[in-house]
Amino acid sequence: MRESDTIDVGIDLGTTNSAIAVVEDGTVSVVKNNDGWDITPSAIWLPKPDTIHVGRRARSRVGFDPDNAAAEFKQEMGLADARKEFVSAGRSLTPQELSAEVLKSLRADAAHHCGAAPESAVITVPAAFTLNENKATTEAAELAGFGPSCPLVQEPTAAAFAYGFHDSSDRGYWMVFDFGGGTFDAAVVSKRDGDLRVLNHSGDRYLGGKLIDWALVERVLAPAASAELGLRDLRRDNPKWRAVLARLKEVAEEAKIQLSRSAQFEIQTELNDGRGGAWTFEYTLRRDQLDSIAEPFYVRAINLCRDGLTEASLKTDDIDRLLLVGGVTLSPGLRERLADPRHGLGIELDTSLDPTTVVARGAAIFASTIRRPRATPVAVAGEFVAELSYEPSVSTLTPTAAGRIIGSSTTDWTGYSVTLANPDGQPPFRSARIALNANGAFATEVDIDADRTSRFTVELTDDTGTRRKLTPDTLSFTYGIEFGGPRIAHSLGIQLADRSFAPMVRKGATLPTKARDYFRTSSELQRNDSDAVVRIPVVQGERSRGDRNREVGMLEIRPRDIRIDLPAGSEVEVAFEIDTSSLVTVVAVVPLVEAQFEAEINLDNVRPATVQALEVRLREVEDRFSSLTASALSPEAQRRLQKLDGENALQTVRDQVRMAKVDVGAAAAAEDRLRDLEAELDDIEDAAGLPALVRQLQGLIEEAAGLVEQSGSPADRQELTEARRRSQDAIDSGDAAAMRTQVERVGTLLVRLEQRSPDWPVKLFYGLIEVLPPSTQVNSLIREGKQAISARDTRLLDAVNQRLYRLMPQAEQEKFIGVVKA
Ligand code: ADP
Ligand code: MG
Repeated sequence: MRESDTIDVGIDLGTTNSAIAVVEDGTVSVVKNNDGWDITPSAIWLPKPDTIHVGRRARSRVGFDPDNAAAEFKQEMGLADARKEFVSAGRSLTPQELSAEVLKSLRADAAHHCGAAPESAVITVPAAFTLNENKATTEAAELAGFGPSCPLVQEPTAAAFAYGFHDSSDRGYWMVFDFGGGTFDAAVVSKRDGDLRVLNHSGDRYLGGKLIDWALVERVLAPAASAELGLRDLRRDNPKWRAVLARLKEVAEEAKIQLSRSAQFEIQTELNDGRGGAWTFEYTLRRDQLDSIAEPFYVRAINLCRDGLTEASLKTDDIDRLLLVGGVTLSPGLRERLADPRHGLGIELDTSLDPTTVVARGAAIFASTIRRPRATPVAVAGEFVAELSYEPSVSTLTPTAAGRIIGSSTTDWTGYSVTLANPDGQPPFRSARIALNANGAFATEVDIDADRTSRFTVELTDDTGTRRKLTPDTLSFTYGIEFGGPRIAHSLGIQLADRSFAPMVRKGATLPTKARDYFRTSSELQRNDSDAVVRIPVVQGERSRGDRNREVGMLEIRPRDIRIDLPAGSEVEVAFEIDTSSLVTVVAVVPLVEAQFEAEINLDNVRPATVQALEVRLREVEDRFSSLTASALSPEAQRRLQKLDGENALQTVRDQVRMAKVDVGAAAAAEDRLRDLEAELDDIEDAAGLPALVRQLQGLIEEAAGLVEQSGSPADRQELTEARRRSQDAIDSGDAAAMRTQVERVGTLLVRLEQRSPDWPVKLFYGLIEVLPPSTQVNSLIREGKQAISARDTRLLDAVNQRLYRLMPQAEQEKFIGVVKA
């Protein structure tokens, strides 16, 4: 491979399969592995402590040797406890380490192809990956021996790059439909005069071909095998049958793939009968059986595409082409459905590129637009160094090349000049002599070719006309696409003390980006209370409740980190910085503390919920669902409840919670789905509960109006008028969140009005004695207070109230201090 100034290597690090592609002289090619394949299964087999197999052989072990082989570890990237034990080798590896093995293997294939192992590569990640998962991917690249700067790019973006490169039309909208083994991603991209932009992402991180394989096992193959052997306990959550089920899943996948080419497939495999013997399992699977089992998964993907289009304010008619990506899109059943305007999307399908390698190709093309990180060499005596400045990927045929020449000592540049030459250009290009200015700098336009990379040599001549040695002395331009910049796939922000979400970087923001906002602590943090901690969860998502989004990290401020007590209401400044690879730094600063204190985000500590916690949440969701089903609902709530298709959704979650007992990845999947369901139920309950909320708000306003009448100041009057207006707006637009805000505001106003009313101490007294547990001290204070009331001694009553207040137990949860809006 010729020495190039751009990265030129792209890797699709997939859940099921990975691939590596390179760009050489403007042409992309997929690098074959040792088996002669374009794709390498993302699987690892460790038969002995220092023997690691990656790819096809490892993949075939996963079925019958799950103790020593692993696959699909990408779904556990970034999870703190997700280690895979390899029994024979006596080793355990993290998802990052496993992914690094896959990357090493691809890197070795590239070394074989190019003559040297690449120093860096562009690596793709799903659009749905959160920040901690991206970080884990970067760690895997470093473990695999790549240099520290491997840019990440989202898979749909890479796919669009691959298609964009081959497309001659100038403008339009495309939709990327990426159905892989583990995840589904959809993205709307626009191309305009060579400018490629991803407008919108949607997807499901756990929707993949794997679910189709398991559905085939659970609905067809396992029942058939059980019937043959008279078994009752051949289920996925039964560890006794783990190897048999893994094997069945493998044959299910093989059958599924074969059925893309033929109408039926004869399954035949040896299975362990659980009593030390083996039997041969045979089954004939037909394509129509597969299609009907796969249908719900296809429908879910299609619905996600429709939702994504709606979100981008587009219709299927607006989309010119549907770019098929991912192995599952090879299935004719899916293609037929997609092409159908009624049950599918009715967008013209583009199948011109191989869906299993298109992402790697696009990543390589993207890599050819990024300059390799290189330290500027130091000029040695008599030689010269160039600092070149140019954009390697351009949408003009006459780009500008500029630079500055540096010598080992101060040089008088009079009489020095450079010439840029591209002898392979069509026609060959040679610039005029460009004189260097007093600083040794130059700039000039060059002509490039439209259909290939144009590589220029910079020739330096001194004041005597002699050619001098210059490093580096090449630069290249590729005509084609300019990239509108990567965008963040989910809004990023923090969760406040009241559990609400404070987004700071909005979904769709172009990267790199920065955000800064100010908050206040919700209660006091005492330096000597070792249990107290200010916790600021960092979350990603679009829901208004923080805990309905995904937690990606945690900012913590502990007493040992501070030198003085932090009073409630102390200012906390939170600042985010996200780079183009979606890698994030978050810093919290507490200005009050003398030496500024910074809390670094910890992205490595995200753990999936425990199975017990998942079971509790599942029961809650089941209860909420059945009480909604049983009650009379508003038409809007009714419509949303129907759309939820609760029974099916619940069944999927139940299955996943069951699986979570044996599989960390399933726990994460179950938690994700539960969270979605919870949020959806929140919305339906909101829609159903609106009349009650409206009544509550109106009641509060009436009460406040009465008090304002009696004892309100002009300011109170004004506030009440304002609250009335806002509440009416909220009621008219049916905005539950706005109504809740007003309920809170009017509530605070009421408390303030009441505190001013003469009978407030009495109300407070009765309020306090209601919540305090009885004790001799409390009882004597109650007696004293009652005497003060009958004697109308407000001063004494105030004192009693204060003492009662001090007896209130410190609430357990107050140990966790959160932040509130400043
Ligand atoms: P990933 O992006 O998860 O690494 P791929 O894009 O390689 O995955 O797709 C893998 C999935 O595609 C697997 O579920 C596999 O069974 C499925 N698949 C591969 N080839 C075919 C085919 N010819 N027909 C149907 N499904 C296929
Ligand atoms: Mg993929």
